[in-house]
Amino acid sequence: MKVILLGAPGAGKGTQAVRLAERYKIPHISTGDIFRSNIKEKTPIGIVAKSYIDKGQLVPDEVTIQIVRERLEKDDCKNGYLLDGFPRTVSQAEALDEFSTVDVVVNIDVPLHKLMRRITGRRVCGKCGESYHIDYLGGKTACEKCDGELIQRADDNEETVGKRLEVYEKQTAPLIEHYEKKGKLFNVDGDGDINAVFNAITERLG
Ligand code: ADP
Ligand code: AMP
Repeated sequence: MKVILLGAPGAGKGTQAVRLAERYKIPHISTGDIFRSNIKEKTPIGIVAKSYIDKGQLVPDEVTIQIVRERLEKDDCKNGYLLDGFPRTVSQAEALDEFSTVDVVVNIDVPLHKLMRRITGRRVCGKCGESYHIDYLGGKTACEKCDGELIQRADDNEETVGKRLEVYEKQTAPLIEHYEKKGKLFNVDGDGDINAVFNAITERLG
């Protein structure tokens, strides 16, 4: 099963992707995670990516497309994959169409005014990547799954998030229509609780 998770920053793509990858035994491929691990390792890609990510801008298409193309060639993607955060531009979607055929595009829909709070309150496990929100952490500072330290992403500050939401509206939201026209779009209400969103998605994916 080849699935794209579409949605604004903070819509819950990463949260759902972790759960869906476990359920369907397919790899969760997050371009944001790939960039962050390159930034940590200070690779040439990481150095380029950081200059864009820090400003809330998209990493250039050529760099991003190449990374995904190579990742999807790996053996573990033979039976499917979950793309989280890619494609984010029409050019990326067109490139993807040339090297893979996606089955379903799940668009997680959350009202824009709720996203700022979701993202600025996000804490992620530095070890396994699980996402949490301060509203539900009750002051806890360690990951429930692996006891890793919970951290705030450098780009999850109000100023950068504002820019990321603008970029989403301008460059990524047009993908909804792109996939609707192809008959691949499945809209899910992302404003319910995490389990309700998960159940709605798995009902569609089977
Ligand atoms: P994305 O990967 O789309 O940027 P995340 O999955 O990291 O988004 O979620 C962003 C924030 O919102 C996190 O703090 C997460 O815990 C929280 N969150 C995710 N799904 C829900 C939901 N259905 N209801 C409330 N909060 C959610
Ligand atoms: P995310 O982890 O999905 O929130 O992505 C974090 C940041 O990584 C984004 O704000 C972009 O700067 C960059 N990024 C992630 N995916 C892409 C993509 N498909 N195209 C361009 N930039 C991306």
